[in-house]
Amino acid sequence: MDSVDYPYIPEKRSFIFVDKNNSFMMEAHTARQEYAGDSLFPVGVVLVKDGVVLAMAGNGFNKGKSVVHVCPRVVNDCPSGEGYELCDLHDSPGHAEAMLMQVAKQEGIDPAGGDVYLYGHWWCCKACWKIMIQNGIKNVYLLENAHEIFHRDRVYATTLQTSLKTVCLIGDFDAVFADVCRELGCVVYQESENKIPESDAVILNTDINDLSSFDYNKPIILVSKKESFVPNKLLNNSNVVYHIEYSSKEEVLRKLRNILKQL
Ligand SMILES: [Zn+2]
Ligand SMILES: [Zn+2]
Repeated sequence: MDSVDYPYIPEKRSFIFVDKNNSFMMEAHTARQEYAGDSLFPVGVVLVKDGVVLAMAGNGFNKGKSVVHVCPRVVNDCPSGEGYELCDLHDSPGHAEAMLMQVAKQEGIDPAGGDVYLYGHWWCCKACWKIMIQNGIKNVYLLENAHEIFHRDRVYATTLQTSLKTVCLIGDFDAVFADVCRELGCVVYQESENKIPESDAVILNTDINDLSSFDYNKPIILVSKKESFVPNKLLNNSNVVYHIEYSSKEEVLRKLRNILKQL
């Protein structure tokens, strides 16, 4: 395992590996299913001390599965370990290890001398190591072959797939936009008026004339040219999951694809 090239690991620290039948790793797997608010890269952790699980947590601020999150890191193709500052949900305070320390504190548990079992990832970032070391965590356990099993491409292959069956394009879009949606398996409706067919999501070109009465109770993706005017009413609409401000067609199509895959 020493051959794994970690993006970060503190001096004199290493991981300990266990297989999937390890009972604490199984608890970490459960924590991932129950607490991870990050559906793209869900991670679960448990704190173990004296052979007992004392606390459980998941990344994405322990929010669980109900969160709809379109991650700017994914939209912008950020490399692994970079771009956390773009995203509130994926920011390091919301990482599973940090959440675990917080949960322990809230419950009056002293993590010092305990071990962390982590399921869903293959390394820990600098901020998470720091907080674990500060809290006196002894060892961090990972799943055997975690670097392969939880390699980003492999995780995304299962989580980055659109569940949208139908999308509606509203406004003046050329045919390649519909092609992108169809490539991902969506049926596409196109509409230039405010009368919208029922669909699972809407892609709205803000260039269209009258947006005053626009309202829709499904995820909305706004598309506008960089520095063009977009009414506040639209920007503040809570159904807007992402606003693409583009300067090139290649950029908007790439981002649109990355957004749809997350919905
Ligand atoms: Zn994110
Ligand atoms: Zn982290």
